[in-house]
Amino acid sequence: MRRIGLLGGMSWHSSIEYYTKINDAVAKKLGGHHSAQILLDSCDFADIRELQEANDWAGNDASLTATAQRLVDGGAEAVAIATNLMHKCAPAIEASVDAPLIHMVDSIATMAKRQGFSTLAVLGTRWTMLEDFYTGRLEAQGIKTLVPDEATCLEVDQIIWDELTQGKFTDASRARYVEIMNDLKTRGADAVALSCTEIGLLVPPETAPLPALDSVDAHVAAIVGWMMAEEPVAI
Ligand code: GLU
Repeated sequence: MRRIGLLGGMSWHSSIEYYTKINDAVAKKLGGHHSAQILLDSCDFADIRELQEANDWAGNDASLTATAQRLVDGGAEAVAIATNLMHKCAPAIEASVDAPLIHMVDSIATMAKRQGFSTLAVLGTRWTMLEDFYTGRLEAQGIKTLVPDEATCLEVDQIIWDELTQGKFTDASRARYVEIMNDLKTRGADAVALSCTEIGLLVPPETAPLPALDSVDAHVAAIVGWMMAEEPVAI
């Protein structure tokens, strides 16, 4: 089994899901007392959030690159950023850290293709929905993407920061997300990507009004596949 290095803490409410799901998948695969070889570097998210709010992406590049290097220095053989948004920093990490980066977007494209979906609604932070680093990478792999109108994107984003990344999951926000998903379904999405690692904690995929791909599950499948030197495994 290869050792993965996880850039976590963004937020810890979803990092814990990665830890559980990677271990579950390895135990299922290997049985007995087998568990996953993981290095987890869990940041103080307030530091990252401050840089996001200042739109200081060079600062976040530097911070995440240092984290990835620390993981590799500690023995990680590949790294994975346990958040969708912070894949904005993936190019900087790939340019300066000498280890493979298991990319979240590629894992979602793989999961969508395996399940036969070609038009994905994307829900996540405003940067994830409105900038090209995320949807552009899906489109480059032949997946059409749909996002809400800008005002709704800002509403989805606000709920992420005011509630989800602080571990608050309310019925009102759940109902609003389901309403937005229904609207995207009407616009032609055949599935929705839960492209913020905390959304699956608010709207579990099986309760969504259309097929839902949880970014944590897609990423974990790719990570465990890499750990076992196989294709992404079914989670
Ligand atoms: N966990 C969220 C995501 O998957 C947002 C928090 C962050 O990465 O800053 O995009």
